[in-house]
Amino acid sequence: MSAQTGTTYGAGFFHDWMTAAAAAVDREADRLTELDSAIGDADHGANLKRGFAAVTALLEKEPPATPGAVLVTSGRQLISTVGGASGPLYGTLLRRTGKALGDAERVSRAELAEALTAGVAAVAQLGGAQAGDKTMLDALLPAAEALGSSFAAAREAAEAGALATVPLRARKGRASYLGERSVGHQDPGATSSALLIAALAEAAG
Ligand code: ADP
Ligand code: MG
Repeated sequence: MSAQTGTTYGAGFFHDWMTAAAAAVDREADRLTELDSAIGDADHGANLKRGFAAVTALLEKEPPATPGAVLVTSGRQLISTVGGASGPLYGTLLRRTGKALGDAERVSRAELAEALTAGVAAVAQLGGAQAGDKTMLDALLPAAEALGSSFAAAREAAEAGALATVPLRARKGRASYLGERSVGHQDPGATSSALLIAALAEAAG
């Protein structure tokens, strides 16, 4: 059904996306922390676990009425609960994507792809990173583009993007302090971004 043209997604779908993201982050928290212990400070799993648990708690307490409001609320909650670089970056991603969706009751995949592209651009602006810098953008940029084709394509692009960070040298964030020693490790933020996009595809069914 979801692959049909004309399918639209309401607030419930976006709530499901955040719930699936929280479950994935919870399940993979140890792996994210392990990746962050290799090239960072070993807090990425704990950071996101705390943040997404706070997001789902808030969404359940006060369910927002529109797709945009679900994402803006979630982004704001991530900013206020996640320490570290990834809180403001993921918060900005969701807030900006939500803002771009406006107050529509339902949105199409194409509209979401366009909004996500704006959200990813805001992350690039905030963090000053670009493709190939070994950050979450290496998963998010290809995912936003592939979402124009399908949810499954977005998931595959994000996963491929995260894997492709292994041979890269980090140019932004904590991992950049390691210089050449960051080569050979998968970026934790690109890995969690792939989980976020996989959760989107999961919500789409
Ligand atoms: P911290 O680095 O403050 O400990 P986290 O461990 O939660 O924060 O997140 C680290 C991840 O954040 C990195 O793996 C990377 O993907 C992402 N990141 C860090 N700095 C930037 C940046 N300037 N632009 C985009 N992403 C970044
Ligand atoms: Mg860290």
